[in-house]
Order: sequence, then structure tokens, then C-alpha cells
Amino acid sequence: MIPAVLPTYNRAKLNFVKGEGSWLIEADGRRFLDLGSGIAVNALGHAHPRLVQALTDQAGALWHVSNLYEIPQQEKLARQLTEASFADTVFFTNSGTEACELAVKMARKHFFDAGQPERVEIITFSGCFHGRSTAAIAASGAEKMVKGFGPLLPGFKHLDWGDHDALNAAIDDKTCAILIEPVQGEGGIRPVPDQCLKGLRDLCDEHGILLIFDEVQCGMGRTGKLFAHEWAGVSPDIMMVAKGIGGGFPLGAVLATENAASGMVAGTHGSTYGGNPLACAVGSAVMDHVADPAFLSEVNRKAGLLRQKLEGLVAAHPDTFEAVRGAGLMLGLKCVKPAGDIVAAGYGKEVITVPAADNVVRLLPALNITDEEIAEAINRLDAAASSLESS
Ligand SMILES: *Cc1c(COP(=O)(O)O)cnc(C)c1O
Repeated sequence: MIPAVLPTYNRAKLNFVKGEGSWLIEADGRRFLDLGSGIAVNALGHAHPRLVQALTDQAGALWHVSNLYEIPQQEKLARQLTEASFADTVFFTNSGTEACELAVKMARKHFFDAGQPERVEIITFSGCFHGRSTAAIAASGAEKMVKGFGPLLPGFKHLDWGDHDALNAAIDDKTCAILIEPVQGEGGIRPVPDQCLKGLRDLCDEHGILLIFDEVQCGMGRTGKLFAHEWAGVSPDIMMVAKGIGGGFPLGAVLATENAASGMVAGTHGSTYGGNPLACAVGSAVMDHVADPAFLSEVNRKAGLLRQKLEGLVAAHPDTFEAVRGAGLMLGLKCVKPAGDIVAAGYGKEVITVPAADNVVRLLPALNITDEEIAEAINRLDAAASSLESS
């Protein structure tokens, strides 16, 4: 019999009832060190007092009004985001997938209004993940996501990640945009080299097409800059954000330049919940922390510390781990043993990690994890690896 909850996930037998900072407390009382953050969502850990305060203050005043009216919390967060980024304008969504939908619409509308309605195709790369809607799975093209769900939204060209020649050959007079994650998340924590992001920017400028960055997972301080693309010194025309921006409250956004967004006039897009006062109050509080240069410099320091300790862990367990990769506090352990087994062994040692493609275990700790918690994380991962090796 089908379970009451649609069984689209293989769930671990863990039932967390409370969260405190980098810790998750199981119903049986065990305390798990959380290096997954709900997949890069709980950017400031669990139950951060300032986020709890922002949420409860807003909850006591007003939960929801329609986008038919002014929403000052939304305007405030939009100003925070535009002041801290390349963007001139922001649309708020409830998820990364919805941000993907708007990014696609915005790029197409831009060229439609520019008198080039034939420019509808978006180039994407193997291993990418942009969400689970019919457009977002079409963007990915991955067999395991699209099989059985056709016909798919047309207009995506899938190239091999890192194949520069194929990219040069693929752009034609139907191309409207290139869509890429500056650091692939689900694909296995694969950072695009800075040189390549620069090359993509040049290529888009040369051909007069738009560059879309999906920073749903790698954005909001995760790599030690507010947005990952800042490391390369280039900016996109359109950017998708979600996950960390709400710190655990469902919130996403599309950030764009005035030029890219020019076609999105009244009536062209909407969302009932997108940018509601609760979500934006929390998002603003997240931004207050994460956009602070002092906070980001701490993220970088801790990232260096964690990475160095992970290199030691890999060296100590050559039969389990192969290498460390990633950027900032978005790190991956490329594994020799099956990544899923290592994640499961971690559960046994009360440490939470997240598997990704390419046999990688993802580490996405809260950005405010402490040095002591980093040391404890390594102890627990070490114990997990040892338990696998002796079994
Ligand atoms: C998680 C993710 C998405 C989808 O976000 P949802 O909030 O699950 O819809 C899109 N892009 C990237 C890079 C992601 O990591």
C-alpha cells in the first residue's frame, strides 16, 4: 500500500525534533552534528536567535498579504540584495525551482522584446541541477530525472561540463542564454574554474546572449563571498538564489540587471506566496549576517581550517576517501567506498552529511559553525570511516 506521504524519497530512519546551532537532536535524545544544514539551507544553523526573533515578530504582526499591495519587508530585502550584488532588481519566489522557471521566462522575454523571438534556447551542462519542475528537469536533461516525464519543455542544449570546443560550436542564432552553477552542488561539488567563468562572460558578451548563474546552493556566503561568482570577478545578467537565503524559511529569488529584466512588466509573472512578509523578514535577518564582510572573513577562515583537517582525514583513510574538493564551506569528499555507505556510517557516529553525484559526500555546515565543532566533525567522520573499514 502506498504510504500516506508520497514515497519519492528514501528516508533515513532519523526523526529530529529540535535544532540548536550546528546540532540536531533526535527523538531518542542523541545529538547529531549537522554538516548538511538541510542541504545548504540552515545557513546560520538551527534556531538562530535573531532569525527566531525576526520570524516571531513578523508572525505577531502580519503573515501574508497579496502582491497586489506594497510589501515593505520585500522592498527592504530587495534593496539589501541589489546593494550587495550586480543586480538592479529582484523577484521573490518560494524555492529554487521557481527561480529557475522565472530565469528561463525572463531570458526568453528579453529577446522576444528585442525583436529576436527565435532566440529561445538555453545552454546547460552535464551534472547540473536546477530543480524538479518540467522546465528545470528539461534544463538538466539527466536521464534519471526526465525519464517518464516527457514531453519536456523544448529549448535546452546540453553540453558536457568543461567541453570548451562544444560550447563554442553550440552557440547559434537561436541561443538566448547560458545557464550554469558556479559550483555544481548535486552534481558532486564541482567548482567551475574562475578562468572558465570569465570565459563564459566573454563568450556571452561576444554573442550578445545572457549569462544566468544558478547560485541556489553556492550563494549566500557559502563559498566565503556573498555570491560564488564574485571570486571570478565576473557577474551574470540573471541569477537564481534560494536555500540559504531563507535560513530555513522557504524563500528564493531571481536577481537581474535592468537590461535582462526589461521585458518583465506588470502581468508577465507572479506568485501568490513569493516574497511574503514572513519570508522576507527572515531573509532580511539572514542578509544582515551573511552580507557582513566580518562574517564572510570568518567563513573563509573556518573553510580553510575545515579543508586542512579534511585533507588529513583523506590521508588517514586512503581506502575510503580519494580527495577533498569544493570552495569555502561547500566541500565534497570524493570517495573510494560508496558515498551512501559513508553517509550511513556517519549516522552511526552521529554526524550528518549529504551524498551527491560522482560518488561524493557533501559537507555543507552552518556558516557559523565553531572551531570546536569543526574539530568534532573530523573526529566523527574519522570514526565513521574507521567503522566502515573494520566492518
Ligand atoms: C536545490 C537546488 C535547486 C532547486 O531548489 P528547490 O528549492 O529545491 O526548488 C536549484 N538549483 C540548485 C543549484 C540547487 O542546489
